[in-house]
Amino acid sequence: MAEDEAMPTASSAHPALRAWSGQMAAGFAIVFLTVLLASGFGILTRPVGFLAAVWPANALLLGLMVRWPRLARWPNWVAAFLGYMVADLVTGDAFGVTLWLTAANMAGAMTGVALFQFVSEEDRRLRRPLSVLFLLAICLAAASAAAVCGSGAARLLFERGLREGLEFWFATEFVNSLVFLPVLLAFPDRARDLLRPFSALRSGRERLLAIAPAVALAASVALGRVVGGPGAIAFTVPALVWCALTYSVFATAAVTALLCLGLLVASSSGLLALPMSSDILGSTSSIRLGIALMAIGPLTVSAVNRAREDLVAELSHRAAHDALTGVLSRRAFMERGCAAVSQMPAGGVPVALLMFDIDRFKQVNDCYGHAAGDDVLVAFSRIVGERLRPDDIFGRLGGEEFAAVLPGRSLGEALAMAERLRAEVERTGIALASGVVLHISVSIGVSVVDSVSGDCLDRLLARSDRALYGAKASGRNVVRVAA
Ligand code: GH3
Ligand code: MG
Ligand code: MG
Repeated sequence: MAEDEAMPTASSAHPALRAWSGQMAAGFAIVFLTVLLASGFGILTRPVGFLAAVWPANALLLGLMVRWPRLARWPNWVAAFLGYMVADLVTGDAFGVTLWLTAANMAGAMTGVALFQFVSEEDRRLRRPLSVLFLLAICLAAASAAAVCGSGAARLLFERGLREGLEFWFATEFVNSLVFLPVLLAFPDRARDLLRPFSALRSGRERLLAIAPAVALAASVALGRVVGGPGAIAFTVPALVWCALTYSVFATAAVTALLCLGLLVASSSGLLALPMSSDILGSTSSIRLGIALMAIGPLTVSAVNRAREDLVAELSHRAAHDALTGVLSRRAFMERGCAAVSQMPAGGVPVALLMFDIDRFKQVNDCYGHAAGDDVLVAFSRIVGERLRPDDIFGRLGGEEFAAVLPGRSLGEALAMAERLRAEVERTGIALASGVVLHISVSIGVSVVDSVSGDCLDRLLARSDRALYGAKASGRNVVRVAA
């Protein structure tokens, strides 16, 4: 007996421990590989004698830790440290310099992670109008921390002055975090949501409208190449704003990141002919800062748009649903029921309407209180709602009266369904907060039409109402069909 009791603890701790260590190892590997590969990419695209133009490692590290906070634990900081060190050592830098560069890179990411703690989850995910400004402030602080730590190394590596190193490191760090970080911060919860907005598009016209902003962006880049000059860098702004108004925050961040990446590479490889002063380093910093700040516009438009869409969706949901039971409100039921009924092909296809009235509901209120009455209404809605098909339309007409439109159901099917629902309501005990388990019953009036003309639901409702009256008159807890 004692052995039986002791064993389960040991054996049940085992799988949990295994799962935990598996998660830890996966987190370690993800952080290590991300930093290693991103640093490798940055080193390979680094112009000789310069800091890399594209250095995504720090922003990706910061983004991983902020977007998936479970990764923000010390073994993963060790993984990041190893990732930076290995990438630099393999590509031939001296140990001392590598250590210094790594410390600077990690100082930026650590500052960012620490500061994001003070920002709400909604803002971290770039879902509110001011979110991008918080992001901007944190990127400024993180880039400053990295620049202060790294400027000395830049002096050693590239033989530049301390001030130049500071400016250049800051600009590079800032642009990279502003460009890459939003993509991770706005990354959808589930990978399958990445393409969901596009798979939801039904008609060819909708799909065309969805890709139009991206096409306009590509066209404006091409136009910038043709026209040339320093103003060409801003040619993409209208198309970016269009993308921001059309796409999700994630997609906008991804499109903006791609564009900025292209501009960064083009500007440091000479493809983009921008006017440079004799102070090449200063001009390059200025161009990088300009590119970074360009990303703020579309991101803000997208975040504001997202916040507005969320609000409209919430208000529409509230307007269409009964606050107590969550089923359709009377108005939404009438609108949707009418639309469903009028969409049925005339003749041949039946439409059924069930009207429910809970029996002696007033007694529930009188005996157990109004709150118990509310609980009964919620439970009743759940019992019925769970048993209807997805294309059935169920709503609360008012008080303890509900109705359901069942498209495509014959009289026989509708009667069988009504009887099943009546029996289920009678059978199911409803537990009140006081602990009392209550049994209620419902009377149901049913009517069916084969084709519906102009008056839509009203005729069906009136007939079901008469049938319901008959059900009440014949003793309640029964289903009656309209004559
Ligand atoms: P019958 O069997 O004839 O249908 O009798 P009944 O008591 O169910 O019908 P009656 O129309 O007399 O009473 C309905 C009651 O429903 C009266 C009203 O106070 C109560 N009621 C209406 N809306 C709500 C609500 O939102 N919450 C609660 N708790 N009660 C409500
Ligand atoms: Mg009633
Ligand atoms: Mg009633």
